[in-house]
Amino acid sequence: MGGAPAAQAQRRIELGGVSVDLLRIGTFRSDAGTIFGPVPRTSWEPLVRNEIDDASRLLQALNLLVVTTPERRMLLETGLLPAGERSSDASTDALSAREGLTAAGIDPASIELVVPSHLHRDHAGGLADASGAAAFPRATVVAPQREIDAVASSSLRARAAYDTATLRALFAANAPRAFERTSEPDARVELRLLGGHTPGSQATIVRGSERTLLFLGDLFMRPWQSNPRWVTAYDDEAWVSVDAKTSIFAEAAAGEWLVAMSHEVAAPLGRLVADGDRFRFIAE
Ligand SMILES: [Zn+2]
Repeated sequence: MGGAPAAQAQRRIELGGVSVDLLRIGTFRSDAGTIFGPVPRTSWEPLVRNEIDDASRLLQALNLLVVTTPERRMLLETGLLPAGERSSDASTDALSAREGLTAAGIDPASIELVVPSHLHRDHAGGLADASGAAAFPRATVVAPQREIDAVASSSLRARAAYDTATLRALFAANAPRAFERTSEPDARVELRLLGGHTPGSQATIVRGSERTLLFLGDLFMRPWQSNPRWVTAYDDEAWVSVDAKTSIFAEAAAGEWLVAMSHEVAAPLGRLVADGDRFRFIAE
């Protein structure tokens, strides 16, 4: 008798000299077919039979990470809702990132860098408030140039996935710190352009003295995607996603890195173990 999990949750992870707060600021529903992309329903349905609702939708978490190093504090992801808004309808039960931090006892004004894994609506929605003003006015947004360019694309696919008007106005007023292939915004943090899910999807690698943590945004949103071939229908460049996951999963498995997932509700943290030409996820 579990019932639905509370929409919000919080967990502290110590990596050695670096702490990470993993916050779930809410849940929403996604069509299961779009999340499993190229995978036939006969393969995925048995895995989620207890989770999908009458409309074949999965229960998805909005997970954020707050990384605190000796030098600074950074926020990975900003969720779906603009700052100041909350939703508790049948499909979305969530806080904005700013309110989620406050609810977790973390001062939003202490955030110096904001690093969305990519700029889709459910990851960049909390960068601004409903009026379009920066939700974290003291912080700098760090993103690959390719993702910033994708937001400005006139493609109808981009227009459906990004809140183009809000992000363009926000970036015109508060210029993001753009990078090409890699960036080290902190001595303990490496950002890597991977692409795949979106043209500018990035990996965040946080290195403590005892453990390394990897966050891949929607390249690894749920544990079934530990098979590199299992990508979503939202992946703009599926072939790039598969190759990027194959490579960085191998690195994570070899280093026994902790891996956090962007939309997993029940067990969003664990490690990857090589298993033939795929990987298995083991929750920790
Ligand atoms: Zn997402």
